[in-house]
Amino acid sequence: AILLLFVFSICSTTWSQANKKTEIDTKVSELLSKMTLEEKVGQMTQITVTFFEDPKKPGHFDPSKLKQGIQDYHIGSILNVPNPGAPTIQRWQETLTAISNQANKTRLKIPVLYGIDAIHGASYTAGATLFPQQIGLAATFNTDLVKRGAEISAYETRASSIPWVFSPDLDFPRNPAWSRMWESFGEDTYLSSKMAVALVEGFEGNNVGSKYNVASCMKHYIGYGSTTTGKDRTPSIIPERVLRQYDLTIYQAAIKAGAKSVMVSSGEINGTPVHASKHLITDILKTELGFTGVVVTDWKDIIYLHTRHKVAETKRDAVRIAVMAGIDMSMVPEEFSFYTDLIDLVQKGEVPMSRIDDAVTRILRMKFELNLFQNSFANLKDYPKFGSAEHIQEAYKTAAESITLLKNNNAVLPLNKNEKILITGATANSMKYLNGGWSYTWQGENSDTYAADKYTILEAFQNKIGKENVLYTPGADLENENDAEIQKAVDLAKDASKIILCLGEKNYTETPGDIRNLFMSSSQIKLALALAKLNKPIILVLNEGRPRLISDFEGKMNTVIQCYLPGNEGARALIDIIYGDVNPSGRLPYNYPRYPNSLEKYNRKYTESIAEEEQNNDAKYEKSYSPQFEFGTGLSYTTFKYSNLKIDKNEINTTDEINVSVDVTNSGKRAGKESVLLYLSDNFASITPEFKALKRFEKISLEPNETKTVKFILNQKDLQFVNEDLKWISEKGTFTIRVSDLNKDFSLK
Ligand code: BGC
Repeated sequence: AILLLFVFSICSTTWSQANKKTEIDTKVSELLSKMTLEEKVGQMTQITVTFFEDPKKPGHFDPSKLKQGIQDYHIGSILNVPNPGAPTIQRWQETLTAISNQANKTRLKIPVLYGIDAIHGASYTAGATLFPQQIGLAATFNTDLVKRGAEISAYETRASSIPWVFSPDLDFPRNPAWSRMWESFGEDTYLSSKMAVALVEGFEGNNVGSKYNVASCMKHYIGYGSTTTGKDRTPSIIPERVLRQYDLTIYQAAIKAGAKSVMVSSGEINGTPVHASKHLITDILKTELGFTGVVVTDWKDIIYLHTRHKVAETKRDAVRIAVMAGIDMSMVPEEFSFYTDLIDLVQKGEVPMSRIDDAVTRILRMKFELNLFQNSFANLKDYPKFGSAEHIQEAYKTAAESITLLKNNNAVLPLNKNEKILITGATANSMKYLNGGWSYTWQGENSDTYAADKYTILEAFQNKIGKENVLYTPGADLENENDAEIQKAVDLAKDASKIILCLGEKNYTETPGDIRNLFMSSSQIKLALALAKLNKPIILVLNEGRPRLISDFEGKMNTVIQCYLPGNEGARALIDIIYGDVNPSGRLPYNYPRYPNSLEKYNRKYTESIAEEEQNNDAKYEKSYSPQFEFGTGLSYTTFKYSNLKIDKNEINTTDEINVSVDVTNSGKRAGKESVLLYLSDNFASITPEFKALKRFEKISLEPNETKTVKFILNQKDLQFVNEDLKWISEKGTFTIRVSDLNKDFSLK
């Protein structure tokens, strides 16, 4: 009976969901049939909130502008943050109420859809819980934790009355210098896909229209992170075969998880700006992948088809190209030319009404799904947990699981609380650098102001071991060399038994974060080298969005810890790791390069590795693969022993699954968490195979002496790759499964 009840309840949920879908579809088509062309095109227009502001009263609307936008131009969506940034939830509610009141005065009373870059928490709301940035989430290898964080972000964003977040970032950086590397999940497709699903599920929940969920927006479709130069918004060359095998796979996973919207990449691939590509937007995304959500452009990108990419001779033609490529909503800051041009294009028959109806159907559907017609702004009483201790604790846990111990020679860590230490380095005393971009303001330049009650690394140390045990001097500026400052650090170090050297990057995002040189800035390298001469143990703490090269001095550091951009609770988590109250468990989600001209990924091709027969011949064939730290690196204060790697079949057919199991034992003295990573190598294939590729992972906790058997099931898809005809295929031959230092072969018949 229980089983029957269970089956019935599953069926009735599915039935009610399907029913809801048709109900929504009916509402959408009824509404659409009442709309004028102007009202439809208005729905496709998104304007920045600052447009509506009264320049004389920052943060306050000019009512005539609000009326102009919402009533006269029928705009359907607003984004961004009013000046001066990071309103409280009360202030957000006033903003959204004013917008909603204006929308209620329109003929059809269609609510305005508000979208925001809440990318590591409700990052544009004062007092919100800020999590590690995405690159840190990837390093946790813990999808449950990441999903829980997204639920909290959704809750706090809805508490801010906003129903739509421009997250997750599904970019797939091929050059680690890219200024948005940290907004991604790193260099692996499988890890990125799993993390993408966790974020989408956490944001959207089972019912995106509930008061605790938000619609997600996958971005930036597609190939945005793969610029050849590593500079933002510069061209990418990506063969479609490669695009499908890696980049598209991540989108496919997120779409399957229900992602409601997607933002188009500002970049160009093989000479075609993505905003102009019917092939990528309509043929692949909408038709082949069956994506039914909203496709929004990125900032001003339709205009840029004319002014930057030069594929459209006029702004009007840019509108035609982008709309015909398949975009549904135009992120047009501050001007209405998209609106007027598109109306004209439809009236002159250059854009068919069917294309407009497709776009507006998608937008209205999302508004209904989000329940905006009933409930467009939040009742603050419903959100008692906004910024609460419970939420902060989750952000702390996430930071603690992301921080990655890359090296710990002579077991310098954990430190003893009685030792006097020197803290130095440009990132040691800043909340901005811990949070990075999109933190209260676009590039995070205000996060010091808003996070006054949070600990910087220096403050967290002082809190942990007492001010009397902490010596501090900045030692170096991020950019400018200053020998006197370095000398101060060297002098102070004489009184300390260990040195905590905090290096990294300023807060940045997008084009302002472009760099010409991947090395850590010279001012910081100089400080590291000067301190290294003292022959005292140095604990290098990296606080950076991308791997700035440290090969000039890494060999002189005893310990290296990668914090990424760990957010508001990051310093507390870091200090708890340094003193051993937390056992580190993060793993690097990318290869940390050693040389600027050797940017190979961990899943390199065999020709990028040193082949066995050439190993004694290095001088003759110097292969470049030698990252400073490899993808997956992450030490613990305990040790894990792997044994008994088993597979249930040595030979399989194309429909078989393979059961894999491995025993993992905590062979050290402390409890710890271990991410068990399973890699697969296809030993021979008609498209040169990868050296190895991550196929499964699971994070487990083990007490000392405890053993757990971890089980994985591999299926056919895991054996496949995209061939020259752009088809996913597998080929017969042998495959090797690798878990830690163990491996097993099987063959596909
Ligand atoms: C960025 C997007 C962001 C959008 C809205 C753009 O400049 O590329 O990632 O979501 O602005 O703020």
